[in-house]
Amino acid sequence: MPDKSEQFTGEIKITGIAGSPGICIGKAYLIDKEGVEVVEKYYIREKNLRNEVKRFKAAVKKARDELGKIIEDIPEELKKHVHILEAHMVLFKDKMLYGKTIETIEKELVNAEWALKMVVSEIQTVFLNISNSYLKGRETDIIHVSNRIMRNLAGTEEENISNIDKRVILVAHDLSPGDTSQIQLDRIMGFVTDLGGKTSHTGIIAQTLRIPSVLGLNNATGKIKTDDIIIVDGTTGVVILNPLDQTILNYQERDEKYKAYKAVITRSSHVPAETKDGFHIPIMGNIELPSETESVVENGGDGIGLLRTEFLYLSKNRFPEEEELFEQYKQVAEKMAPMPVTIRTLDINGDKAVSYTTEEDEPNPALGLRAIRFCLKKPEVFKTQLRAILRAAVFGNIRILFPMISTYNEILEAKQILDEAADSLEKEGIPFNRDVQIGIMVEVPSAAIMADRLAEVVDFFSIGTNDLIQYVLAIDRGNRDIAYLYNSLHPAVLRLIKHVVDAGKSKGIEVYMCGEMAGDPVNIPILLGLGIDELSMNPSSIPDIKNIIKSLNSKESRQFALEVLNMATAEDIEKQIQDTYGKILYDTIFHE
Ligand code: PEP
Ligand code: MG
Repeated sequence: MPDKSEQFTGEIKITGIAGSPGICIGKAYLIDKEGVEVVEKYYIREKNLRNEVKRFKAAVKKARDELGKIIEDIPEELKKHVHILEAHMVLFKDKMLYGKTIETIEKELVNAEWALKMVVSEIQTVFLNISNSYLKGRETDIIHVSNRIMRNLAGTEEENISNIDKRVILVAHDLSPGDTSQIQLDRIMGFVTDLGGKTSHTGIIAQTLRIPSVLGLNNATGKIKTDDIIIVDGTTGVVILNPLDQTILNYQERDEKYKAYKAVITRSSHVPAETKDGFHIPIMGNIELPSETESVVENGGDGIGLLRTEFLYLSKNRFPEEEELFEQYKQVAEKMAPMPVTIRTLDINGDKAVSYTTEEDEPNPALGLRAIRFCLKKPEVFKTQLRAILRAAVFGNIRILFPMISTYNEILEAKQILDEAADSLEKEGIPFNRDVQIGIMVEVPSAAIMADRLAEVVDFFSIGTNDLIQYVLAIDRGNRDIAYLYNSLHPAVLRLIKHVVDAGKSKGIEVYMCGEMAGDPVNIPILLGLGIDELSMNPSSIPDIKNIIKSLNSKESRQFALEVLNMATAEDIEKQIQDTYGKILYDTIFHE
């Protein structure tokens, strides 16, 4: 339902998720990438079964060939993301997708389209309970891959983005990383999609291409038509349809200011973040892939505060070898040296997300066999990773971070396995460095409450607010229906963070933060005031956060944090932030 001003002016504002920053204004180009909408079910006679399986295999082969061609032609600037597409190649032969579809055709005597549809919807059910954003991204990968197979089965032609020959802004229901890699920068000014999020692979590719994008708009394709004039503001996640002349002028002006501002802060981001009263706080990057190291460096990061290591385990049909892991960790350590690289050991759910393990389905994976629990149950898998990390530590400044610690003994057990890994390397005469700092993620309430005792057996804490908030507030971080309750400024969350920081300090260890909370400008005055020693975030947030820190005073922030800790609600705290720091935040975020 349009609001009054929309009815009056015809200008429509749609809000989604900011995919990659920047502004573009131009004509929309609607592309049909929704895949095959209606899938019919029919039965296959037994004598025709082999042909049906053959038909499915041919569709998969064609899909692989198409993607292989896209990989071959991938532009230079996207080469570092080629592994995303290569992971899709592996998915074509995934047991869960490929094997299961063939099995369904054979067992249920149904057509290949229907079998594929059933298998994908089963996989989606498994993913329903998964909150880890990385694993959620895997669900999208599977959908993109199956859409490509489905199109081939149905014989529908896909629209080729590389054939578009006008300067346009793409509007699509969804774009796969394969689609996005075909974008020609001299023609495509930006894009918007109904689906997707900032950390989706499509979002990551858009950030590398540096074209503005807004994702997760739900129904942009229902509202925007080809040739409509639209404004895409990828910084705030806003799309304006049929803008008034004055709105266009305003955005053109904002665009110029944004570009000038970005140039200044990215340059100054290479200077350490120091408050007005001389308090220095390292600002680090969170990455999932070795290739993202570059963007930490480009954005002026002081190191890597969180290297999530799940990718290598999920892009293969088996556990990776020590050598593969070592090569990847070494590459990051070398590139960042002497700056620290914090490698978090495997944070995987012990469920079907890793299709080659034999674990049973879990009714509640967020509370189940995941992360350190999974690794302690599979010491040989854990030891392989630890050996790779210790070997890579010869080449840079590596720290080890154990995820999802909930008890003291888990730390002792993990350290015991680390010792065994080091001993085995020693015996085999393989070079390694045992002199690495060992820390834990504080993301489970029991660890936060016991922080004073846990601090006795580790070198640092890293607060993982993404999980800590979900467990403290009993809110599934991936559930959209209750997302309005997920609030990092809930006083219970802030009090618990203060407890962890104080406990760490009392035992002489540093306390870092690597959850999303650390990269949101609004939280910075409080986090600084609570005494967090280091913040780690999405690399693209580093310049903004450094800039904000440079305009704060640490003593004032400390006073401010104490004040808000007494407040009863997140709303009160938000208002207090607005009243006290509104201007600084506005100036630094919106650059006006
Ligand atoms: C967290 O929980 O805050 C965190 C950084 O880890 P992940 O998002 O990978 O669970
Ligand atoms: Mg976590």
